[in-house]
Amino acid sequence: MQTADIHRRWLTFFGDRGHTVVPSASLVSEDPTLLFTVAGMVPFVPYLTGLVPAPYPRATSVQKCIRTLDIEEVGKTPRHGTFFQMNGNFSFGDYFKEQAIEYAWELLTSSESDGGLGFQEKDLWVTVYKDDDEAINFWKKTAGLPDERIQRLDMDTNYWSTGQPGPAGPCSEIFFDRGPAYGQDGGPATDDDRYVEIWNLVFMQYLRGEGSGKNFEILGELPKKNIDTGMGMERVAFLKQGVENMYETDQVRPVLDRAAEISGRRYGADHDDDVRMRVIADHVRSSLMLMSDGVTPSNEGRGYILRRLMRRTIRSMRLLGVDAPSFAELFPASRDAMKHSYPEVETEYSRIERLALSEEEAFLRTLASGTSILDLAVAKTKTEGAKELASDTAFLLHDTFGFPIDLTLEMAEEAGLTVNRSAFDELMLQQRTMAKADAKSKKTHLADLSVYGEFRAAGETVFTGYEY
Ligand code: ATP
Ligand code: MG
Ligand code: MG
Ligand code: MG
Repeated sequence: MQTADIHRRWLTFFGDRGHTVVPSASLVSEDPTLLFTVAGMVPFVPYLTGLVPAPYPRATSVQKCIRTLDIEEVGKTPRHGTFFQMNGNFSFGDYFKEQAIEYAWELLTSSESDGGLGFQEKDLWVTVYKDDDEAINFWKKTAGLPDERIQRLDMDTNYWSTGQPGPAGPCSEIFFDRGPAYGQDGGPATDDDRYVEIWNLVFMQYLRGEGSGKNFEILGELPKKNIDTGMGMERVAFLKQGVENMYETDQVRPVLDRAAEISGRRYGADHDDDVRMRVIADHVRSSLMLMSDGVTPSNEGRGYILRRLMRRTIRSMRLLGVDAPSFAELFPASRDAMKHSYPEVETEYSRIERLALSEEEAFLRTLASGTSILDLAVAKTKTEGAKELASDTAFLLHDTFGFPIDLTLEMAEEAGLTVNRSAFDELMLQQRTMAKADAKSKKTHLADLSVYGEFRAAGETVFTGYEY
């Protein structure tokens, strides 16, 4: 079952059941407190909180999401992407818990020929908030699930709230059991490699008051209760496609295969290489989708996240033994895998490619000069028998060679060394203070005009700022 097919089945199922089909919002969230859209519910927050009356009683979407919080998990777990698609169905004061559970169960377990996803009932488990007896009863009634496949869990995983006074409520999650080959039995509470979370149903039921963490007061039931659900499309895709993880699905795998071809290394032969290929496949796709939503690489905010994803891709290619540029081959593979669901990645491709290639070129230059300095410093540190890289080396790399500190940390760690992060931060602070004082004293002096002379000597220059 191709990802685009799951996409279509989802929207048809909920569309046929009275939900307004709402197109995905941009990855660049309209919510100023969020860098990116992190969940399907984000565009609906004003309706869910009651700030704005919902224009429809029920809605459904397939939402593009970015979760930078999961970046360290990428490639290591089977189920975490920085980019992924969250399929959602929403009720704004319309249907509630029982109906939401019925819909979820029907879509998951009805046969493929009936438009369902065709999961076997015996493979599914659910978790509920420990006090939510209502949900337990609905699961028993709707799905006929035995007690042992319904696990009661704590607030950490099974309760939703914004952390502020406002709507809150329990949630119930659905898991797929991949079987004993993937870990110990005992259900989702015991093993999250074997039991893969696929769908979260949030029941916005209560009005919460002040408080923090797990301690807040419940002021009462909401007059209009809402449903917010999120199903991970890539997770369903990898389980339906019979592959091992989300990076091997039809929308992601082509990039992984390109990385393998370019590097001449075989996927499946070496654990570390496999992780790198999965990271590359994920990060290239995330970068492509971010750029198609208008994000450009820069040193702050969203642009910095994009830059980081591209730099991690380049680093991973180098660790696969590839020093030459590879974006010109990796990005088209991702474009071709994504364009059926997102035609804009094709129509916008020349702009995206230009951004990607110039970012790659600049970073390869930085890497080449920085790496040789770092290698020397690492060798020197080791011959001295020390375990920590001098913080002024890290600072020099950053200050003179534009070598990002996270990369220095990563590369030092690979060489078995640590870096004193706070000493580095101290040097950064000193430099900023000096630069400020310097700028102040310069105000009274004339600029060094010889610089302009040098420009002149270089002859005519062409302004390329509009294209690059
Ligand atoms: P997990 O515990 O596996 O990290 P989560 O509890 O953080 O998932 P939710 O916030 O409940 O996830 O999001 C709803 C659904 O979106 C999840 O059930 C899952 O199917 C999907 N999902 C969440 N994070 C990711 C991700 N990084 N990559 C792919 N799918 C994801
Ligand atoms: Mg998570
Ligand atoms: Mg979870
Ligand atoms: Mg969850």
